[in-house]
Amino acid sequence: MTNLRVSNEDPDDFFDRVLASKKNSPKDVNYKSRVNTYKPNIRLHFADYNHRFISGSLGTTPPQGYVDPVKKDLLRLYKYDTPLLQKLKVEVTTSSKDRVINTCQNCTINAVNSLDHILPKEELSEFSVHPKNLFPSCMECNGKKNRYWQDGGQLLFLNLYTDTLPNLQFLFVSVSFADGLPAVNFTIANPNGIDPLLYSIIETHYTRLGLLRRFEMNTNEVITNIEHQILVSKGRLARQDIIDIIIEYNNLNRSTLGFNHWKSLLSIELTNCQPYMDALFS
Ligand SMILES: [Zn+2]
Repeated sequence: MTNLRVSNEDPDDFFDRVLASKKNSPKDVNYKSRVNTYKPNIRLHFADYNHRFISGSLGTTPPQGYVDPVKKDLLRLYKYDTPLLQKLKVEVTTSSKDRVINTCQNCTINAVNSLDHILPKEELSEFSVHPKNLFPSCMECNGKKNRYWQDGGQLLFLNLYTDTLPNLQFLFVSVSFADGLPAVNFTIANPNGIDPLLYSIIETHYTRLGLLRRFEMNTNEVITNIEHQILVSKGRLARQDIIDIIIEYNNLNRSTLGFNHWKSLLSIELTNCQPYMDALFS
């Protein structure tokens, strides 16, 4: 899990360009001129959003409560598979190494195939195409997040544009070995003193997206990789050297993929399970 870069798009310009890219339909020839009349108010809402984005107070954004037909018009602006939104997705997912991160950072399991509305578009349709309100995500995370976004003015999910992820461990994994198979159990906890407010968001993020269970469902590839690494290395290198290389490689991954990257932590913990290692090196 890593932060994505914040878009450089000017939100007002972006809104204008999205609107300009739309076409009036034969059944609704006044769509664009109608949305133009909403613009002065949208500008005000966007200014408020921009301020809250910087000050970390998006959780207390008051929904404007737009209802149809205005809400329907605003929602019509958003369509994932359009050039402007795809360009935005590429912009924010391009890493400092100029490579596109195509893994959903909300879960670090699935590929990105949607844009999540940080403030949900159903309740806050005024931000349906605010570029800083759109976060690349997989459909599974997007679906689990659904319409939930805040509780008591506190966001329920990490905002990976702005929340600084701690270089402290909060994700833990235990591996046991019985009947010739490794069994994996993920937990989260805060024994390392992460700021309680940030940790409470981490906790609701992981819980509501079902991440621990989803990690456990996806361990096969990680376990297979470790087994194959050991298989091709043993006989060439000493057992401890192989284990040291696996640990070093995965710690290096944590420096770019996230300090609490589940695959890296699992790989390391697999090498700490002595009975499992004994079986693989026998
Ligand atoms: Zn996801």
